[in-house]
Amino acid sequence: EVQLSNRVQNIKPSPTLAVTNKAAELRAAGKDIIGLGAGEPDFDTPEHIKQAAIEAINQGQTKYTAVDGTPGLKQAIIAKFKRDNGLDYAPNQILVSSGGKQSFFNLALALLNEGDEVVIPAPYWVSYPDMVLVADGKPVIVETTQAARFKMTPEQLEAAITPRTKLVVINSPSNPSGISYTLAELKALAEVLLKHPDILIATDDMYEHIVWGSEPFCNILNACPELYDRTFVLNGVSKAYSMTGWRIGYAAGPAPVIGAMKKIQSQSTSNPASISQAAAQAALESPQDCIGKMVTEFKKRHDYLVSALNEIPGIECIPGDGTFYAFPSFQGAIDATPGVETDVEMAELLLNKAGVALVPGSAFGTPGHMRLSFATAMSVLEDAVSRIKSALTA
Ligand code: PLP
Repeated sequence: EVQLSNRVQNIKPSPTLAVTNKAAELRAAGKDIIGLGAGEPDFDTPEHIKQAAIEAINQGQTKYTAVDGTPGLKQAIIAKFKRDNGLDYAPNQILVSSGGKQSFFNLALALLNEGDEVVIPAPYWVSYPDMVLVADGKPVIVETTQAARFKMTPEQLEAAITPRTKLVVINSPSNPSGISYTLAELKALAEVLLKHPDILIATDDMYEHIVWGSEPFCNILNACPELYDRTFVLNGVSKAYSMTGWRIGYAAGPAPVIGAMKKIQSQSTSNPASISQAAAQAALESPQDCIGKMVTEFKKRHDYLVSALNEIPGIECIPGDGTFYAFPSFQGAIDATPGVETDVEMAELLLNKAGVALVPGSAFGTPGHMRLSFATAMSVLEDAVSRIKSALTA
């Protein structure tokens, strides 16, 4: 038997992809399955973006590009940061990668030594802890509650910090909770970070555009510009432009670390796909109204789903500020269902009995909850809710 590396044995495959695969398997076996597991918009990539890619192919933009992205795309990203976020970057502070996932992976590999700690508030995007582990780092999970709207408090942040803390991760609006930090809350977290000048910050702004909260989008640099020299802004085109399959994400931050991340990328995947880069440039430079149409639809589904879930006994769902996920507590339903003791068992029951695939909260570090993606048609959501209701009340 081949002895695998400790590195690979320390991590698990993405649980969200696993649920999507399980649903696909059952469907292939002829079962009627509603998939609420996937983390991608159900809309097609907008036409003008697809056209830009086709033009790129026809013009022969089919060769290697600069490792860190084409000059054109990097300029579009710089302009986007100025336009949307009021942030200034030079080209050597930008790295384009094959998806937001690779951006964080590069960051972890460029920064962490064995035992370096990364503070990650739960519920978290499933990949952060595992990517930290691959890089020999130590995830330090800060548990939040639904009562606190799944937000880490300044006191919790302070208590999680040790002399080994290297990085703090903030994802707002959050996958899976859909909750955003307010500017005031980010200021309060920044106050703590100002007392610890060696700690770096990653703000994952992937869902920046999919918001309907009371405040416009903001990140920790808007709250505290003083953190500019130690903050990495991670973003991408996957969610905002329904471009998950194109694989383009980007990072901005202090040039020396961005350079180190580029070195890692140069020895692993090299440049992201040239054609996808042309498409991403068009997405960022064209009128942004395609986003608004998707957000309007997501908000309608959000409002329906939150109120419909709250009508089911044993489920409690707080409204989100954005994204396309709801993250209700199923604890009451778990407690009331004989033979079901955990969220994982509840997810299995719903898959087998109701034919609804969703992701248990423990995958995100918050047991007792479920993540439901509403990146699917309203009629499908209605069907899913009525199936969940009958399965739980049967
Ligand atoms: N960050 C968050 C919070 C996400 O939810 C995702 C995708 O699920 C990503 C980053 C990575 O996106 P991608 O690698 O598809 O660009």
